[in-house]
Amino acid sequence: MIAEKMNIDDNRAYPIKGKNVVVVGMGATGVSVCKFLCERGAIVSATDVKRKDEIEDSEALEKMGVRFSTGKIDGNLLSTQDLAIVSPGVTLELPEIKEARRSGVTVIRDIELASWFLTKPIVAIAGTNGKSTVTTLIGEMLRQSGKEVFVGGNIGTPAVEGVRCDDEVDAHVLELSSFHLEAVERFNPKIGVLLNITEDHMDRYDSFSDYASTKFKLFMNQSHSDIAVVNAGDPVITEDMGEVKGKVIPFSTKCFIEEGLYLNDEGNIVFDLDGVMEIYPSEGAYLKGLQNTENIMASIAVARSMGVAQDSILKVLESFKGLPHRMECVREVDGVSFINDSKATNAGAVIKALCGITSLVVLIAGGRDKGGEIGELKETIGRKVKCVVAIGEAGKRFKDEFSDVTEVINAGTMEDAVRKAKEMAKKGDVVLLSPACASFDMFNNFEERGNEFKRVVQELK
Ligand code: ADP
Repeated sequence: MIAEKMNIDDNRAYPIKGKNVVVVGMGATGVSVCKFLCERGAIVSATDVKRKDEIEDSEALEKMGVRFSTGKIDGNLLSTQDLAIVSPGVTLELPEIKEARRSGVTVIRDIELASWFLTKPIVAIAGTNGKSTVTTLIGEMLRQSGKEVFVGGNIGTPAVEGVRCDDEVDAHVLELSSFHLEAVERFNPKIGVLLNITEDHMDRYDSFSDYASTKFKLFMNQSHSDIAVVNAGDPVITEDMGEVKGKVIPFSTKCFIEEGLYLNDEGNIVFDLDGVMEIYPSEGAYLKGLQNTENIMASIAVARSMGVAQDSILKVLESFKGLPHRMECVREVDGVSFINDSKATNAGAVIKALCGITSLVVLIAGGRDKGGEIGELKETIGRKVKCVVAIGEAGKRFKDEFSDVTEVINAGTMEDAVRKAKEMAKKGDVVLLSPACASFDMFNNFEERGNEFKRVVQELK
């Protein structure tokens, strides 16, 4: 349908010149997309609920020819365009966007747009948790083997920036959120990685099965010559594999895998594929915990499929420090370890964090609730957590939900939370910030929340 409407011949020659294109949502990605479209001769408009002066680079964009309609999402504008690029932060369920679709406007996300112009293989990483870690790790492994790569998408640099360096790179490694996958038209990764599917963003999906099926759009356009790296230990994933057409490379920390990656009796990773068998450590020098074993397995599967030698992979596992705000050890005070896991914005990530800690935990959790079930989290908290220090909007819900399995106290600020947690913790315990919620009620983003935690912890006497 889209090819007809816009006369697309192939991915490289997308005739964007002269087309009316609107960008919805003008955060960093929207700004980048506007510039990209202007450079290619599109007639570009931008719409956002923000005011124009709140949009970064708005003056420069106006000089490039972008027309702004701000203060609300402009439905009339949207419905008269050829193409709408909707930033991942904006839900496709908005009435204005639904109406535009009904009027025949093609609605996509930025990564779809970028993919129309990319000529080098795309490695795309999806899943509820671990995407940034795996995206970065794969990028490092490819670089270690001498390849040039663009690493971006949902992490760091918007995917359209990869088009600029397409000639110089060997591959694009892109992190995809489920919001990117919602509007897949022709996006087709050479290698797609699906790490896990647990509940998240239930404020933006009608049901868990809606959310889960969105993740599978990663594989929608793959053919037999493409590769699907999947977590075979995840029951939600294995249930839905029927439609996947690419060559499947399964990995699991839970069971033996005949052609893929699994843990042997010594706890090492076995890579066993197409007659090649290699052994790898299950953890890196800094990457610890079962969740990271899964991340390492997925990264090895991709790296080996792209010709990276075992030596290069081992070197990266020795040196890769992990990303900040993901199980980041901050400091030990009076025998109490403080760990910053501010990126844990859903129950699945917090459960993995708690399961990886053998000591008793004082958990700082809360923030903006994204909805969804917390039954399994409650069970894990009951086993591992001696006290929850609840913060933010979810504070009340957490007190109601968790009080029958552990002590719950509320705190008003991060400073207050850290001090109360320190009082509750004894020598040998861990104070863990792993919020299970978004940060936007108290902070601009999870980085700011983690940095504030670290600041207060560093100041503890
Ligand atoms: P994402 O980009 O998907 O949010 P990150 O790598 O940034 O993933 O990690 C987000 C959170 O999930 C952190 O709390 C991290 O410790 C945890 N995590 C990392 N890898 C996994 C995994 N494979 N399974 C579950 N949780 C994970």
